[in-house]
Amino acid sequence: MTPEEQAAKIKQLREEISNLNKSVPDQYLEQFLIARSWNVAAAKDQLLKMYEWRDKNQIDYHPVATDENKLPVLYAVRGFHSIPDSNLEAQPGISEAVLRINKYMGGACLHKTDREGCPVYIERLGYHKAKELAKYTKVEEVQGYHIGCNEFLHRVVMKDCSIAAGRHINRETVIFDCTGMNWGQLHMPALNFIRAIADCDQKYYPETLNKFFLVNAPSAFVYVWKIVKAWLDPGTIAKIQIIGSDYKKALLEQIAPENLPKFLGGECDCDHMDGGCVPSQVLKNAKPLNATDANQKVATAYNDDIMKQGKTSDTIRGPAFH
Ligand SMILES: [Zn+2]
Repeated sequence: MTPEEQAAKIKQLREEISNLNKSVPDQYLEQFLIARSWNVAAAKDQLLKMYEWRDKNQIDYHPVATDENKLPVLYAVRGFHSIPDSNLEAQPGISEAVLRINKYMGGACLHKTDREGCPVYIERLGYHKAKELAKYTKVEEVQGYHIGCNEFLHRVVMKDCSIAAGRHINRETVIFDCTGMNWGQLHMPALNFIRAIADCDQKYYPETLNKFFLVNAPSAFVYVWKIVKAWLDPGTIAKIQIIGSDYKKALLEQIAPENLPKFLGGECDCDHMDGGCVPSQVLKNAKPLNATDANQKVATAYNDDIMKQGKTSDTIRGPAFH
């Protein structure tokens, strides 16, 4: 399809949803069109369902951490202008569920940008305690946490990256490091969490993936991949590269060495931060996350009072993107 034909489809979709009175950039409409192979009716249908979901769950009012509101971050961040380098810590206001989920996670960080200016999310998937995650956490809690992270990513970090790159950035590059993975992680209840997250992203945050690298994949991963692949859109599958131990060249082609952690073949070690580039509760390189009474037992990412403040305060809600 030519750029002119694509522009015509975007215009057509914009006209079809004009009665919604939403001000959205062309790039946002384009995400839905690409996800639905440029079928305007299908893209409109997905867009309407997304708005329905956001309204029903009041996602527009979800609080997001910024440098101004000093709300604690939901995961580690490194290398952005508008938010200082931070770790997830057991600060008041973070829900107990988020702290509990992270106790069993191998480590995650939104770590700097790739050569295209997209933020890079790194997860040490191989160190996840899959069985404990499935046993001690609920899918609603994982979903609530994921939505909180997504809103922060799209409303705060993508804006930051867009300013730095001088163009509209709406996609994230993801690295899943499988180092440490074993047969124990072939655990169906834990894989169902991946399914719930992938389902949420594909329906409500379509085409927000730039590149996806699954590195250090052990041979056993073939079996996991067969299961997971069935849950993904063809567009998502096309962006995923599964690489064994020979991954450095592919990562360095996408990410400059100073932005890539040393343990992934780059030069960065973030030695100014507890936990370095990717703090991990399982590897115990960062402060333990022990919940107190100031961490409420709710399925949302933040305590109820902070979730409610999003409805009344522009500062805590952060800039809307649609
Ligand atoms: Zn680093």
